[in-house]
Amino acid sequence: MVMEKTDTLVIGAGQAGIALSEHLSQLDVPHLVLERQRIAERWRSERWDSLVCNGPAWHDRFPGLAIADVAADAFAAKEQVADYLEAYARHFKAPIRTGVEVTRVTRNSGRPGFTVETSAGLIEAQRVVAATGPFQRPLIPAILPEQPGITQLHSAAYRNPQQLPAGAVLVVGAGSSGVQIADELHRACKKVYLSVGPHDRPPRSYRQRDFCWWLGVLGQWDAQKVQPGREHVTIAVSGARGGHTVDFRRLAEQGITLLGMTRDYAQGVMRFQPDLAANIAAGDANYLALLDAADAYIERNGLDLPPEPQARLIGPDPACVSHPVLELDLAAAGITTVIWATGFAVDYSWLQVDTFDDKGKPVHQRGISAEPGVYFLGLPWLSRRGSSFIWGVWHDAKFIADHISTQRKYQAYHAPEPVAPASTATAPA
Ligand SMILES: Cc1cc2nc3c(=O)[nH]c(=O)nc-3n(C[C@H](O)[C@H](O)[C@H](O)COP(=O)(O)OP(=O)(O)OC[C@H]3O[C@@H](n4cnc5c(N)ncnc54)[C@H](O)[C@@H]3O)c2cc1C
Repeated sequence: MVMEKTDTLVIGAGQAGIALSEHLSQLDVPHLVLERQRIAERWRSERWDSLVCNGPAWHDRFPGLAIADVAADAFAAKEQVADYLEAYARHFKAPIRTGVEVTRVTRNSGRPGFTVETSAGLIEAQRVVAATGPFQRPLIPAILPEQPGITQLHSAAYRNPQQLPAGAVLVVGAGSSGVQIADELHRACKKVYLSVGPHDRPPRSYRQRDFCWWLGVLGQWDAQKVQPGREHVTIAVSGARGGHTVDFRRLAEQGITLLGMTRDYAQGVMRFQPDLAANIAAGDANYLALLDAADAYIERNGLDLPPEPQARLIGPDPACVSHPVLELDLAAAGITTVIWATGFAVDYSWLQVDTFDDKGKPVHQRGISAEPGVYFLGLPWLSRRGSSFIWGVWHDAKFIADHISTQRKYQAYHAPEPVAPASTATAPA
């Protein structure tokens, strides 16, 4: 059987696969990118309709090409991000093949490389890069059994308020997705309950600079490890409606009922941890710490950025925080929908090589896996805090492309031909 061959096979054509393809092209590494659906599919069909980027357009993009029709300080809509990534791939003629799913990758035995089974046949590759996304499989905790009268969906399946049945909504999880969905539903005149866990909530902007800028100059995007104990701390930011600071007190004032972490459910009643006030206070402390760090940076560098004392005003705790609801009878509260904004897991069942721990998590160092020739790209904290974001994946892609190029040079090495010793024989007469 004739098998198609390539040097490096990249699986997934989201921002990670495209960034890697650009760097591999620069280094003349022959490669192919396979995408099971369309380029940047998740931005097209796995996000809610009104989603805009959490970072401004000058930040959430690759170098060398601006996002069309979006002002530098504005927030691109999800379709504009997808169009941008497609345009980016076109601009350097990325070798992307869409509509091809990779179903199995195994290491060759007795020869280098990998055999890749796809929906369009077999491919042999010397290296494979899994760029299949940081957020692959929606996670819903096993708390609420399926039952008539309550629709349960993950934030990845939420599209818009009209999609939901009449009635109140419980949104579980108050990271960027949960908090934006709760806000949108409240604005659509739904009664909303929002279960809030530990979170960071940086100011949208402070002293005329966006928080993306502050995290950049303060070196916080480059943090290499999650601080112990903060593994489950989410970030609550929003670019919606021109961008604003997420302020849980304001959401409560507007009518959203805040709750602590969702604990369990029995006989029609959902129960919540008594941790709401602590979670809100820790979020405030995180917010104020960033203002402090920003002030110190301005002072140290003598920057002319106007003071913003009103940013430090934090209102009193709303009633739902000072007297938290710990139990909620879902029927009595009129709740007909529960939206789980509770995160995602990865799924590498198709990648059958020896580089996963006993929980199925990839074992790697900055994306270079324990199995030589296998790479991961786009995962949260792959090398730093920014790794799963558009701008961050660019730098990780460069590192991996350099590693691949270097490995190719080692593999192309041939010992020089031995030089024949100078002859002592006399030439025939
Ligand atoms: C709600 C939400 C909002 C976000 N907002 C921002 C933001 O504002 N700014 C920012 O920088 N980041 C944001 N992110 C984070 C990140 O930028 C996105 O998750 C982004 O989609 C990740 O890109 P990726 O290329 O790593 O993975 P993905 O976009 O997930 O791309 C992976 C691709 O691989 C394909 N694929 C998967 N399995 C296979 C297979 N077996 N064979 C072939 N193809 C396969 C998929 O179809 C997909 O197209 C957001 C994430 C979420 C969930």
